[in-house]
Amino acid sequence: LPVLAVVGRPNVGKSTLVNRVLGRREAVVQDVPGVTRDRVAYDALWNGRRFTLVDTGGWEPDAQGRAAAIADQARYAMTVADAVLLVVDARVGITETDAAVARVLQRGGKPVVLAANKVDDTKGEADVAELWRLGLGEPWPVSALHGRGSGDLLDKVLEVLPEAPQEGRFGTGGPRRVALVGRPNVGKSSLLNAVTKENRAVVDAVAGTTVDPVDSLVELGDEVWRFVDTAGLRKKVTFASGAEYYASLRTAAAIEAAEVAVVLLDASEPLSEQDQRVITTVVETGRALVLAFNKWDLLDEDRRELLEREIDRDLQRIRWAPRVNISARTRRAVDKLAPALRTSLEGWEQRIPTGRLNSWLSELVAAHPHPVRGGKQTRILFATQAGSKPPRFVLFTSGPVDVAYTRYIERRLREDYGFAGTPIQITVRIKE
Ligand code: GDP
Repeated sequence: LPVLAVVGRPNVGKSTLVNRVLGRREAVVQDVPGVTRDRVAYDALWNGRRFTLVDTGGWEPDAQGRAAAIADQARYAMTVADAVLLVVDARVGITETDAAVARVLQRGGKPVVLAANKVDDTKGEADVAELWRLGLGEPWPVSALHGRGSGDLLDKVLEVLPEAPQEGRFGTGGPRRVALVGRPNVGKSSLLNAVTKENRAVVDAVAGTTVDPVDSLVELGDEVWRFVDTAGLRKKVTFASGAEYYASLRTAAAIEAAEVAVVLLDASEPLSEQDQRVITTVVETGRALVLAFNKWDLLDEDRRELLEREIDRDLQRIRWAPRVNISARTRRAVDKLAPALRTSLEGWEQRIPTGRLNSWLSELVAAHPHPVRGGKQTRILFATQAGSKPPRFVLFTSGPVDVAYTRYIERRLREDYGFAGTPIQITVRIKE
């Protein structure tokens, strides 16, 4: 999401304005000098547009109102934000600190909106014109306390903030889209037959659903699912050469078209390189994942034990994926597929509100700071969940972050928030 940073001296009413924008009493209301807030970033919504609001007041290194400290705050805002909201106290007028901050913001090249706060009535508007002298364009009169003018101010903010990227092409309603994938002979067509045969009538009765002829509607767990790109599973196409290549193309296309993939594995045989490639495609495409171990009817005690060891060894990186042990032949545990699919889709769509994410993150960082590298300590400043399907997080930091550390954050995210069945993407944005 685009980031708006709020900057200003203590006591100009930043936090009150932040609360006003959020429409709730989440931020600390008083500008208490030196108080480090546990929340620094919030999800905001105005006129149907979402953005992240960063309250830079929380990082005031020295909040005595001195120009240097506030100028640092402004510099920080310039590096993390797409746009900056500078709040000044219209009743006080331009202070030296305000002027210093304005100079930093002018040089920064980011769009700036100037809020002239504490304009509680028309009389107060007389004070506003003077603020043009800051050289930041039109001052917008607002009363954070009473809400006067805040709508116009937010409209102006949205004008300068870039649009959030599209969420993607899913969630248009209708049955959820499932890819049934796996290397040849794991039992994909057998499973498809097992789940479609006896409910063809139900499936045909789903009114008003136009189904691509290459897809199949399947009823599982009292719900209809759209298995995508199943034509090739029903009618086996054989290639003179390059069979594996065509199979992998089709696998990739099905995964691309789906929200969640069931990767079918043959439990009676060792996990292969080809199984791993299918799993990697799902993870890299960013789809939800369910692992289904098929041919369970063929397993004896020894093979079961061996399989557990193979899973521990070869599937470490996707420990988070739900597993079902099934048999397409005997229909064993086929009814376990639907709950597993739902679990994975839930994780795939999950969102952590920015405020909560950052309280959680600041605790994590306090307990486990990033290791010092070359005499330097990378600070983890804040994070946002930039999107879902799959969950994507952006870490704003003061320097490079060890891969092991982002893995640690991912592991903790999974421990504390679940995210079962979904890959998680974490990217780092360095702000100095
Ligand atoms: P696909 O290439 O993945 O579509 O695999 P198929 O569905 O064609 O199955 C390959 C072979 O495995 C066939 O001989 C199936 O009869 C057999 N098979 C599929 N599922 C099972 C199962 O659950 N148990 C056993 N014992 N055999 C199965």
